[in-house]
Amino acid sequence: MLERIPYRPLDCESLPLRLGSRAELVDPLGPATGWRVREVGDGNLNLVFIVVSDKGSLVVKQALPYARVVGESWPMSLDRAFFEHEALKRLGARDPGRVPDLKLFDPAQALLVMEHLTPHKVVRRALIEGEELPRLGEHLGLYLARTLFRGSDWSMPTAARKADLALFSGNVELAGITEELVFSDPFKDAPLNRHTPGLEATAQAVRADRALKIAAQEMKARFATCAQTLLHGDLHTGSVMATVDDTRVIDAEFALYGPMGFDVGVLLAHLWMAYFTRKAHRADASTAARAGDQLLATAETCWRVFAAEFSCLWRTERTGILGGRDLFEDQGDTVGSEAALAHHLDTVWRDALGFAGIEIHRRILGLAHVAEFEAIADLGLRAALERTALAFGRHLAVNRRDMDTVDAVNRIARGME
Ligand code: ADP
Ligand code: MG
Ligand code: MG
Ligand code: MG
Repeated sequence: MLERIPYRPLDCESLPLRLGSRAELVDPLGPATGWRVREVGDGNLNLVFIVVSDKGSLVVKQALPYARVVGESWPMSLDRAFFEHEALKRLGARDPGRVPDLKLFDPAQALLVMEHLTPHKVVRRALIEGEELPRLGEHLGLYLARTLFRGSDWSMPTAARKADLALFSGNVELAGITEELVFSDPFKDAPLNRHTPGLEATAQAVRADRALKIAAQEMKARFATCAQTLLHGDLHTGSVMATVDDTRVIDAEFALYGPMGFDVGVLLAHLWMAYFTRKAHRADASTAARAGDQLLATAETCWRVFAAEFSCLWRTERTGILGGRDLFEDQGDTVGSEAALAHHLDTVWRDALGFAGIEIHRRILGLAHVAEFEAIADLGLRAALERTALAFGRHLAVNRRDMDTVDAVNRIARGME
């Protein structure tokens, strides 16, 4: 059996030989002699193959024992495939239909076989190319509410919750990467950092900005100490694939317990970065204006749907450790319950703004950058747009307590251009 073979990375030639006896692939695809394989991994860490036959197609994702973005000099545990599988199972149960169907997990080979999402496109790419995704904000708002609520102490009973927390605390290597690459490196002169030529003075100023560094440290403390729910942990627009009417979340290997605002804030940050760069990727002013309106509307819908769905779950599914009905509803105090809900949503919102501000910094000054900026060939334009996004990100992180609504934040984004 495959499990007894020591780990070896797959390639397009070896994949049919090594997986050709697995019923999970042969049943849907037919015999391996008819498979066509290509490697499509565009992420920072793993191998991803699309396997196609005349009967259908599947995706095989395999972890490498090092970080692909840096190379073999950065060893990484294969365990992340295990955590990705465990996380996708939970996220899929909490918001059915929003992650790819899982077909097979092979721990020894650190590989996952899943539904091939087609004709879905990675949302980052779709947004750069000017595609309209009218359901994106709604779908992601629902996803965030359902996964973050149902993974939390408001939903889960004590034993299951503690067991889950213990399990995911094993994903320590990826937690450590986020702690360093997101919350620390961009705010100091770290060896893995890079930035666009022309941004030197801005990078220096960031590293001397005490108020911003205090905010970064506060958000890092929140991330590291507030084990509120099971997060996706890497929910940027490159971890979402969509069509006009369907939206799927992929790439959950960073899953860990953390504050709800982290997933929300990272996602919003990438929508706002798409907003700041839209003109560079559009031929004319009117399509850029329309794209800008749509991106801000997507951010607004995402937060509003999140808040509405979360409120609905709060009223109907609050059965876990933090149920709290005994303190409120059971004593006839629904107003008290609603006040507790409003207080919690306010905390998630402030956290989300703080995390969004930090995420923008790490994507411009840290190791892992994003195509919205990287694809702008004119380095002067790229640096100028990055400066604007950084100013916006700083405002979010430092002044997160002063911005009450997503509409207010969108107005600030418009005003900063
Ligand atoms: P990494 O962890 O290395 O970032 P991802 O899970 O993000 O890997 O996958 C990398 C790329 O592979 C995605 O950006 C997407 O293009 C493709 N991909 C991943 N999963 C699927 C899937 N289920 N269906 C179609 N394409 C996928
Ligand atoms: Mg990825
Ligand atoms: Mg659908
Ligand atoms: Mg990944």
